[in-house]
Amino acid sequence: MNPLIIANWKCNPETLKKAKKLFSEIKKSLPKKLKAKTVVCPPFIYLKDLSGRGLEIGAQDCFFKEGAFTGQISVSMLKNLGCKYVIVGHSERRATGEKEKMINLKLKACLEQRLIPILCIGETLKQEKKNQTSKVLKEQLRKGLKGISKKDIEKIIIAYEPIWAIGTGRACDPEIAKVSKMMIKKHLRELYKTAKVNILYGGSVNSKNALAYIEAGMEGYIIGGMSLKPKEFIAILKNFC
Ligand code: PEP
Repeated sequence: MNPLIIANWKCNPETLKKAKKLFSEIKKSLPKKLKAKTVVCPPFIYLKDLSGRGLEIGAQDCFFKEGAFTGQISVSMLKNLGCKYVIVGHSERRATGEKEKMINLKLKACLEQRLIPILCIGETLKQEKKNQTSKVLKEQLRKGLKGISKKDIEKIIIAYEPIWAIGTGRACDPEIAKVSKMMIKKHLRELYKTAKVNILYGGSVNSKNALAYIEAGMEGYIIGGMSLKPKEFIAILKNFC
């Protein structure tokens, strides 16, 4: 498959005007023969104002229901705004207290509404130092995917995002990311007897290190910081034309 490139804008930028400018700078410089699918995930409030040929729109999170849930944004609302992808279980959300049970409900809601969930998993630095990466990934997969069928597992994208590499400038060695990808595949085979799932890498990807992850077998990336810098982001995309 062509690489899948997810731009996670996180809680940026601070105005709609700046969001439109950033989006149009990326749009106007998109390489003509780009052989990568590019998805921009802005904050919810900008979703309806951003659209353009060559760029898909995704959300950074979702809620699994409508109704009396103050402050939440449901999967159906996102679908009605034209979102195709939803990031679920990002470590920055887990850090605010989001638990596997909630992540699991969100994944199921996305699948029900036919949106493509991107499940983020990864270990902390402490866990990595204690050689616990495989165990952590296995638990996150087991709990996050609970009750999700073999048919549906292939509709989910998994992002391996070592927490220590996110926003730190300390990217994971592509060969280590490859080993983690193999761990994820092994755990999926144990759970589902299949591992036909696309696996992205996320954590301090930039224009210099990006290609090495694809060469190491990752199927794309989640890009945070560098997706807010149009020149850097476009330089990453230029690897794929
Ligand atoms: C992310 O937001 O998931 C991410 C990987 O961020 P960064 O590229 O800034 O490390």
